[in-house]
Amino acid sequence: MQAKAIAENETNFMAIDTPAHIIIIGAGPIGLETALYSRYLGYQVTLIEKDEVCQHVLRWQHISMFSRFGDNSSTLGRAAIAGQSPEHPLDALDQLQTGAQWFKNYLEPLSHTDLIVDHIRTNTKVLSVSRSWLIKTDLADRQSRVADSFRVLIQDGNQETVITADIVIDTSGVLGQPNPIGAGGGTAIGENNCHQQFHRLSPTAEQAATLTNQRILVVGSGHTAAHTLVNLTQARSTADATITWITRNSNQLGIATIANDPLSTRRDLVQQANQTVASKQVTRIAGTIIHRITQQDAGTFEVELHQQDDGENDGRQITLVVDQVFAHTGFQPDNSIFRELQVHLCYATEGPIKLAAKLLDHGPEDCLDQSPLSATDLINPEPNFYVLGVKSYGRNSNFLFSVGLQQITQLFQIIGDRKDLDLYATFK
Ligand SMILES: Cc1cc2nc3c(=O)[nH]c(=O)nc-3n(C[C@H](O)[C@H](O)[C@H](O)COP(=O)(O)OP(=O)(O)OC[C@H]3O[C@@H](n4cnc5c(N)ncnc54)[C@H](O)[C@@H]3O)c2cc1C
Repeated sequence: MQAKAIAENETNFMAIDTPAHIIIIGAGPIGLETALYSRYLGYQVTLIEKDEVCQHVLRWQHISMFSRFGDNSSTLGRAAIAGQSPEHPLDALDQLQTGAQWFKNYLEPLSHTDLIVDHIRTNTKVLSVSRSWLIKTDLADRQSRVADSFRVLIQDGNQETVITADIVIDTSGVLGQPNPIGAGGGTAIGENNCHQQFHRLSPTAEQAATLTNQRILVVGSGHTAAHTLVNLTQARSTADATITWITRNSNQLGIATIANDPLSTRRDLVQQANQTVASKQVTRIAGTIIHRITQQDAGTFEVELHQQDDGENDGRQITLVVDQVFAHTGFQPDNSIFRELQVHLCYATEGPIKLAAKLLDHGPEDCLDQSPLSATDLINPEPNFYVLGVKSYGRNSNFLFSVGLQQITQLFQIIGDRKDLDLYATFK
């Protein structure tokens, strides 16, 4: 245990002084920001990334972000980049970026800044996190669990090793674990044999243009489905595809619109996606679930759909044969890495319960209109283990980078036991 001092404050959580060792799992945007904040405060940090830095963002790099650069970067991060590379031109704060521009202009330079560059271990996967001695079912007091350091099993190539830490922060995101496409959110019959062939994110314009004469199935009614519909139909002059879009909801518009949406990129996207049906470029089958999917010898998919009996139609069964499946049913957190810790997860979202309860309480609101979160929402029964970033929201897709910055500020108010600590305000 490297902490110089441990103090239990009035809210019954543990504060740890520098130079405690913090392990951060996942060098995505929030992992990088958390590492920078920790290093600035003097903590020892190991940031472990299973691929290269910000691999998840690079998977959707062709997508235009809804929020502006000022909301997708921190004052501390911008100051660190400016200090390190004064010649690097950061975009204007009101600039709308694609994922690729966000990465090139901000995230990649951020990962090269002095304070964190030597603390990132790429191509190293965290396999599990436990305590070094106590097991999950040991109902020891908090002080005993705190005194027993975390044991983090990592894999670098074929090599497995263990590193220990006083604090573990899981920022490993959700994109690694897509939801199944079957009825009730479960796995469709046959899905396990062919899900590797599904496309989970929207195609680039170039990819869409290669789908000439293809029969394409798009599943889901979120913004990723919207991007896919728009990208596919915009490429139709060169790719004469047949596009079928199925949604579980039977609303008149497949993608829900937000009244007076202040985010112009999102507003336009939703409008364009719904318009693809109105203009008959896309055939929508609403109120439908997938019962079975079978990959045939030719590589095509036979898909058995069941349509809801809603009084208007009689719950028919439909069989389609398609060449491509764009499966946009969302993602879920991989909580198996910390299953040996005492973490109470939400029955609905699988995010840590305190934060999830706050989010559920507030309803399925627009991501811009979230109830204020507090530091105590981040605390788990397992002391000094935290989940931040998009993974902290579990299956709730309302997470925004700006929420992650708020979480980082609140987390270090807990860890540093300083309610007024806010480096982002200091750097304004
Ligand atoms: C298409 C799309 C558009 C979006 N647009 C916006 C937007 O406009 N504005 C906004 O605020 N947010 C947007 N988001 C949300 C966005 O994902 C987050 O704001 C941000 O990327 C979250 O960062 P993160 O660090 O929490 O997670 P991630 O970006 O998912 O990073 C997690 C990292 O952890 C690594 N990892 C995973 N498992 C392990 C392991 N076992 N060991 C080690 N490393 C591991 C991954 O490789 C990855 O690098 C968008 C998301 C998508 C998918």
